[in-house]
Amino acid sequence: MLTSAALRPSPITPTVDFDGKGVQHGHLRLPYSRDDSAWGSVMIPICVIANCEGPTALLTGANHGDEYEGPAALFELAQTLDPAAINGRVIIVPALNYPAFRAGTRTSPIDRGNLNRSFPGRSDGTVTEKIADYVTRHLIPLADIVLDFHSGGRTLDFLPYAAAHELPDKDQEARCFDAVAAFAAPFSMKMLEIDAVGMLDTTVEEMGKVFVTTELGGAGTATARSIEIARKGSLNLLRHAGILSGEPNAVPTRWLDMPSSDCFTFAQDEGLIAFAADLGDPVRTGEVIARVYSVGKTGIAPIEYRAAMDGVLAARHVPGLIKAGDCLSVIATITEET
Ligand SMILES: [Zn+2]
Repeated sequence: MLTSAALRPSPITPTVDFDGKGVQHGHLRLPYSRDDSAWGSVMIPICVIANCEGPTALLTGANHGDEYEGPAALFELAQTLDPAAINGRVIIVPALNYPAFRAGTRTSPIDRGNLNRSFPGRSDGTVTEKIADYVTRHLIPLADIVLDFHSGGRTLDFLPYAAAHELPDKDQEARCFDAVAAFAAPFSMKMLEIDAVGMLDTTVEEMGKVFVTTELGGAGTATARSIEIARKGSLNLLRHAGILSGEPNAVPTRWLDMPSSDCFTFAQDEGLIAFAADLGDPVRTGEVIARVYSVGKTGIAPIEYRAAMDGVLAARHVPGLIKAGDCLSVIATITEET
């Protein structure tokens, strides 16, 4: 009988010992035979810091290759976290879709794979699917709590927030939102996904773990402010999990909600986009968010995009030109301030 794809062993070999103590810097080595390296590999950096018995946190960045707060915070954390201060284990993969990260693109230049649409992955699939499969079967099962950093990449920009999802298991949901509160980003979101199939988020949540994601900015870069939010949030989450001692540094956060698909606006046609509201601005139902001008000639009225609900502008399209189908904006409602 053929072994099903899901049960075939992963081709990825870790060069770290997940049961070892102290600090280990190594790689996940993924065989990738290609023109410039017949028996070559993709070498995904990984760091394991462990000491004493305790919970395990898995911290990942660059699940999308053009999102930089996670990698900036996690390369630093891997270098500075003192194992003597740890109770448990921290597994850090600062650039999960490493080929995409090196190319500065959302998806992998090898197979165009969008890692966060490739879960649970396949051990006999593309390079991106093999990464997803390894994370699903070998990294997530080790973890009690998972933090996966995102931001808007080159085409979106967000208010800086940590987020969790509504879940069928209300006890698990509460534990996820407690972790979001502990992260203490300027904003905290009850997040609605456009399509949750294939996401790391869904895979972690289905395994019953505590999961926190973020959207901390975007526009293809990271700022001093957004990196600091990521850095402090990582440490707060490790304190919340009991892996670092002390309480999370409580700072005020504004709780946001995406109550329905009305929060998303998509462009109907291409053109030049002129926003009438910036990130964080309050918007009311019916108010113009943006105008999109046809650029072939003058004298054509722009298409006006209006808010379908009251709230604040939580995300926006970044490039000055927009295409049909692009996500133009996201509106979120403010539910509570702490
Ligand atoms: Zn992302």
